[in-house]
Amino acid sequence: MTGFSTSTARVIATMGSHSALQILDGAKREGFKTLVVATESAAGVYRHFGVADSIIIVKSNGDFFSVENELVRKNAIIIPHASFVAYVNSEELEGSPIMYFGNRRILAFERDRSLQRKWLADAGLRLPRIFKTPDDIDRPVIVKFYGAAGGKGYFLAKSPEEFYEKIRGYSHRSLTIQEYIIGVPVYIHYFYSPLTKELEIMSLDRRYESNVDSIGRIAAKDQIDINLNTSYNITGNTPLVLRESLLPRVFEMGEAVIDAAKRLSPKGIFGPFCLETVVTPELEFYVFEISARIVAGTNLYINGSPYTDIRYGMPMSTGRRIALEIKRAIEQGRLDEVLG
Ligand code: AMP
Ligand code: AMP
Repeated sequence: MTGFSTSTARVIATMGSHSALQILDGAKREGFKTLVVATESAAGVYRHFGVADSIIIVKSNGDFFSVENELVRKNAIIIPHASFVAYVNSEELEGSPIMYFGNRRILAFERDRSLQRKWLADAGLRLPRIFKTPDDIDRPVIVKFYGAAGGKGYFLAKSPEEFYEKIRGYSHRSLTIQEYIIGVPVYIHYFYSPLTKELEIMSLDRRYESNVDSIGRIAAKDQIDINLNTSYNITGNTPLVLRESLLPRVFEMGEAVIDAAKRLSPKGIFGPFCLETVVTPELEFYVFEISARIVAGTNLYINGSPYTDIRYGMPMSTGRRIALEIKRAIEQGRLDEVLG
């Protein structure tokens, strides 16, 4: 806590789900007071782990902005994560006087798959092909539904006939038909400092999704006999380090996304973000999604990842890195530069 005066300390706050334990733990380690806005059923977790100096109970996560005045009065800086994106609406966030770490404008690009694609394409990244109509399907595709369902109910098809057969029984209105990339999923966790203009690789993960990650435990014949369909519902995350010769490309992709974001919104993207990729046998990265905030895969690294260990030589989670950036911004009188 060197050089950090608690008289200027503000409160770091977040919604009680997703990566709140990590965010609050990181904030405490950097000397901040912490606050969590949680439902009664979730609050016990934050009490148990002792990471929140105060807890505000709400009926549901969607009621987050009902306690906005209290957060403003406490000088709280909100840290967004996927549950925040899933449960609060953009208009409330846009119009709120709340202090927000990151660029709240760029979050709109994360919510909208076509804006997201524009951003990634503008960065020159390799993207899976999108099929505008099912009739054009000429290769394996993954059919994704919109909303916060998190991969639940996605299905695979390889022809228009199979698509029409499988889509029966789904009532979802909007969906994306995306080329299915055969390769290994790699989620890259970055942090871009608006203060030093430096891009860091924090860590990597792969997701543990049900039932696609367990389907290989039963024989192909049984998969067919019981008419098993794949689903990609996220259940947890497992750690990963990357073949070292791929790291230059990882940095290149991160820099390209930062440059492209500046063309979309003046403040661009800063703080944590994640590229969700599939790496092919030719070692090419296909990017199928971007998260413009902390991702839950970073929860693996409360004590730091191999990469942050080398760089910092002390436990440095992404949650803590966020708090460190805010602390440095306060010390340098540049808080405005980390809020958006
Ligand atoms: P929850 O608060 O658990 O209902 O999750 C809200 C959103 O965050 C959903 O869209 C989930 O897909 C996403 N999410 C939650 N946990 C994880 C995780 N461990 N990895 C990736 N996404 C997650
Ligand atoms: P998403 O909801 O876009 O994060 O996708 C959920 C999961 O589906 C991912 O974690 C991947 O396992 C898988 N996935 C998504 N898009 C693709 C793709 N284009 N090719 C292969 N797998 C994919």
